[in-house]
Parts: sequence; structure tokens; C-alpha cells
Amino acid sequence: MSNPLLKKFTTYNETAPFSQIKTKHFKPAFIEGIKNAKAEIDAITNNTNVPTFENTIEALEFSGQQLNRISSIFFNLNSAETTDDIQQIAQEISPLLTEFSNDITLNEVLFKRVKLVYQIKDDLNLTPEQDMLLTNKYKSFVRNGANLNEDQKTELRKIDTELSKLKLKFGENVLAETHDFELHLTNKTQLSGLPEGTIEAAELTAKQKEKDGWVFTLDYPSYVPFMTYADDRNLRKQMAIAFGAKAFRNNKNDNQQIVLDIANLRYKRANLLGYKSHAHFVLEERMAETPENVISFLDDLLVKAKPAAIEEFNKIETLAKKDGINHLEKWDSAYYSEKLKKELFDLEEEKLKPYFKLENVIEGVFQISKKLYDLQFEEITTIEKYHEEVKTYKVTDTSGNYVAILYADFFPRKGKRNGAWMTSFKNQWKKDNENSRPHISIVCNFTKPTKTKPSLLTFNEVTTLFHEFGHALHGMLANTTYPSLSGTSVFWDFVELPSQIFENWCYQKDALNLFAKHYETNELIPMELIDKIKKSSNFLEGMQTLRQLSFGILDMDWHSKNPSEIKNVKEFETASFKNTQLFSDVKENCMSTSFSHIFQGGYSSGYYSYKWAEVLDADAFSLFLEKGIFDKETALKFKANILEKGGTIKPMDLYTKFRGQKPTNEALLKRAGLLK
Ligand SMILES: [Zn+2]
Repeated sequence: MSNPLLKKFTTYNETAPFSQIKTKHFKPAFIEGIKNAKAEIDAITNNTNVPTFENTIEALEFSGQQLNRISSIFFNLNSAETTDDIQQIAQEISPLLTEFSNDITLNEVLFKRVKLVYQIKDDLNLTPEQDMLLTNKYKSFVRNGANLNEDQKTELRKIDTELSKLKLKFGENVLAETHDFELHLTNKTQLSGLPEGTIEAAELTAKQKEKDGWVFTLDYPSYVPFMTYADDRNLRKQMAIAFGAKAFRNNKNDNQQIVLDIANLRYKRANLLGYKSHAHFVLEERMAETPENVISFLDDLLVKAKPAAIEEFNKIETLAKKDGINHLEKWDSAYYSEKLKKELFDLEEEKLKPYFKLENVIEGVFQISKKLYDLQFEEITTIEKYHEEVKTYKVTDTSGNYVAILYADFFPRKGKRNGAWMTSFKNQWKKDNENSRPHISIVCNFTKPTKTKPSLLTFNEVTTLFHEFGHALHGMLANTTYPSLSGTSVFWDFVELPSQIFENWCYQKDALNLFAKHYETNELIPMELIDKIKKSSNFLEGMQTLRQLSFGILDMDWHSKNPSEIKNVKEFETASFKNTQLFSDVKENCMSTSFSHIFQGGYSSGYYSYKWAEVLDADAFSLFLEKGIFDKETALKFKANILEKGGTIKPMDLYTKFRGQKPTNEALLKRAGLLK
């Protein structure tokens, strides 16, 4: 059978040949790809020569490349241009891929070879990148229990199975609880304050439930505007308490015991693998390195942000007093914050949008990339696309050398998931004297053009584009030998540095002047609007910081100590929140029982990384502010030490090389207006 996915691509720069790839090609390609990858692994384990870095570690690194290529094409399509058939294939193929990756991590012969090389690592004269690759490969086995005896291995598998069941159940309970509540209103006066769109959506929800009037739910698109705009305080209270009580109602969806079980199993698992706690296990592969570092990081921010947060709280409370509210409660927070924001800024999104025509913003992004990193972007029509709306670019340096392919897919449509992301169709590596360049893609869901108007972006969409483009630069400029260390394959709390730092240029006059022109008059964005954007971006930063810190601290409390003594989830949580809460406690509410980030998703011992990334980007950008936002020397240092290096060197070392020192919290506190 002729399957284009299994042949060498003869397209422009070996880009994915979308015109030839049909949905029916994927499954057989996956099966063949897995077979070939297995054969490559077998060739390593059957090798009778003494294990070496080349015949074992490097061979393992470059195995399964065909499968990787098929996977990235397939899963990118599943996110950006999916169909029922593609989703069906994803269902069928996922267990096969899991099984294949388990086959590798549980392959004892393979591990034996890797371990032999690892044990003589210091005598091998490896480059830092090779050293990192070897350590990563070895750890990927060990962290899955490869060094354990048979009984311990059985125990580990038991814990893992149990954990995945509990996490699933946790998520199902949160979902069931979210759907278990509705606020059904039939009196129009109760809608006072709500925007038109929110009311319409509530009417539609009511109709779907075959009810009169309006139905509001605990889903974010319904809940958030309700809490922000509804004038009726009692209704806000009802909604807020329902929201905070999710999976904490002693009913069949209650998560209290599940939370305790997850925390205890994670602790046990970490101990089994030789770590002091789950947080120690997780943080071994993070820039922050240890729970102690994370905790002191959060504590330092807390001390500095708290006074500002209290001041902001008092301001909001003063405003609420005018309505006769003497004690500001949780359900008043969003409502009076919004009122205060209106009073202070009155920044209308509609006034800004004409200055951010999509084409102009893209042009701006390209110009900034050229000024900083000498990149040039040429739209090329000979690259095949998976959808006609996708734009394709050849990226070169100023000497004309080929750097990367860039795909950009901007507008929402059926078959594309929500949000914005950067991904790649092919990663970068060096082999046999060839530097094989990456194919990077950014996917967004921006405001579409209409018959009469081009695509005019909200400021939030502008920063989103810069954010994803920052990730794309990390991918496009990748310049490492090994694909698993290339581009964005870095520690988790380091990956948002390139993306978030790039957002900073959106707030700089000299950068905005390059592209923020009125789409009809070509007039540059007025300075007064830029000032407003800057100021409003810091609005209530103290309270927001405190909130983020409270979640980060709660996460560390659950995961950095022995949880076996914890009997009462609510009491434990209240103690953890002691220094971070501005509002009175609501006894019916509990955060942990619906804290999906850490009990269902992958953020356990990782919630701090939101703030960590902000500190990094603010600290890194402060060097640009000091030297000039287009300062070549600073930009080239960032490129050489961060953007090109991927995960080849520990992030703290890379960062220090770029910055000349370790990051401190000062720049973020200053940018956020929290340092007086
Ligand atoms: Zn990001």
C-alpha cells in the first residue's frame, strides 16, 4: 500500500504533504511506525557490543523518529482541524502509544545498558549536552521504578493504577457538582446589571432545559459575568457559595476522602522511589529544584505583595460602603472590583481595536523579531496547508540562511479547539553533519474579519499573539543536537520565559509605534491609550498575587510533607490559608475538593510556576529596559543562552549566563506596582 506518511516527504523542505495525507492513512501509519520503532529498540538491546553512549543513548534518542513525525502531524490536526473520524482514530491509537512507551520504560535489558553507560559517565568525556541527555534517559527509567526490586515494582504499579482511578473520579465529581447546580430566575428585575450577551446566553440555557426565564450555571462563561455584574447581592452570594461548595457537600460526589487518598498515595510513591515527598520528586526536574526554594520564593512574594493587597481590599470595601455594605465578602469582590476599574480607567476595548489590525500586528511581530534576532519572514505559497486559512512562512536569517518553517492559523472554526497554542510539525536536531530545521506552528482563535471590517484584535488577543510567537521563537531558533532537548523541551517552570518575555514589547511605546496604527487613518496609537493599557494591566495586582500565592502555598502544603496525619481537609486548608486570606471564611466552602489543577491535572507541586514564570520574564526583561528594548547585545545574549539552547543545560545556569545573576523578585514587584 502506498501510504504518504510512511515515505520520505518530497515536498518543500520536507514539510508535511497535507494534500496527499488522508484520514485513512493514519492508523496503518501508526501501526507501522510503532513496529519500526520497536525494531530500532530491539537493535539496541540485541547489540552484543559493550554499551556505549553512541550505540545505546544516542541510538535510543534517534529511535522512533518516523513515529514521532506521524504523531505530531496527527495530534496537531486533532487539535486544529479535527473530525469525528480523527477523534475515533485518536481513541484507538492512544492505548497503543501508551503501551509502546511503557514497553520502553519497562524494558529491563534496555535499562541495564543505559545504566551501564550512566555509571561510567564521568569517564566518557561527554559534552554538557550529551551529559544532560544521558542523565535524562537514565532518570526516565529510574523515576518509573527501574531500580526497584520486583515487590516494590508491583507496589508502584498498584499505586499508579489507584492514583489514576482516583484522579479520574476526582474530575468526574467536580464535573457532576458543577452541573448539579443552577440558578433559575424568572423575574426580570433580578437580572439588573448583567450585560446583554450574558442574559441572552442564560435565556438560551433555560430554553435548552425547557424552562422559562433565565438559567445561570457554575460554568465559567455563565458564572464569571454573573459575579462581575449582577447587582443583586443575595443572588451573588447564592452563586458564590454554590461554586465554593463543589465536591464538599457530603454527598456521593464528595472529594474529601479522595483528596486525602491522593496526597497519601503520592507521598508513598515518592518514598518508594527514594524521595522525601511528592514535591521533592516533582521538583527534581524543575528549575526551582527543591520545595524549600519554592516555599521561600512564595513567602518572599507574600511579604511584599500583602500590604498592596490589603490596600486594594480597603479601596474596594470603601466603594462598597456607598451601597451600604459594611463588610466586603467573597461575593462582592469581582463586582466592586469591576466598578472600581470603570471608575479608574474606563478603558474601552472598542477604542483600542482599530489600532490592532491582525495583519499590522503580525507585521509588528516580524519586525521586532528582525530587530532582536535578525529573522526574516517570507510568505511562501508552495508549502502545503491543512486548511486554506493557514498562512505559511519561510524563516531565514538576514544572510538568507534557512532557519525554520512557520505555520500560522488564526481564526476559530469547527474542528479547532479553544484557546491559543504553539506546536511543531517537525522538531530540530543535528545528525550526520546536517542541522535539520524545525517546522513550527501557532494556532489561535482570534476575531474574524467581516465583509466590512478586517480582523481587529482586542488587546488581550495582541498579547496572546506575542505570547505564542515567543514560544515559536524558542522553537524556530532551536539549535541543539538532540531532538528531546531541543526548543521548548525544557523544564516545566522555564518554558514560559520565552513566551512571557515577548509580551513585554506590547506595552512599549517604541515597539507599538512599529505596528499599532489605526486601520483606517494610519494614525499611531495615542500615548494616552498606551498609558491606560499599562496602568490597567496592574489593576488589583496585589490581590491577584495574594490569591495565586494562596494556591501555590496550598499546593506545597499538600505535597511537600507527610500527609498521613491530616484528618480534616477543611481544617488543613484553613491553616494553609492563614496568611493569605483577605475575605472571611465561608464554612460551606472548600478549595481543595475542587482544585483540579493539582488533584486531577498535572500541576501538583507546580502551581507556583505561574508566578515563577512571571518573575523570570520580568527579571529578564528588566535587562532590556536597562539596555534598550532593541539592544542587539542583550538580544543576542538571550538568543544564544536561552532560545537556542533548549533543555541542554540546567535552566538556572542558562538564565544566569544570560542575566549575569540569578533572578530576583524585584523586577516583577516593580512592574506590578507592588514596590512603593
Ligand atoms: Zn505559554
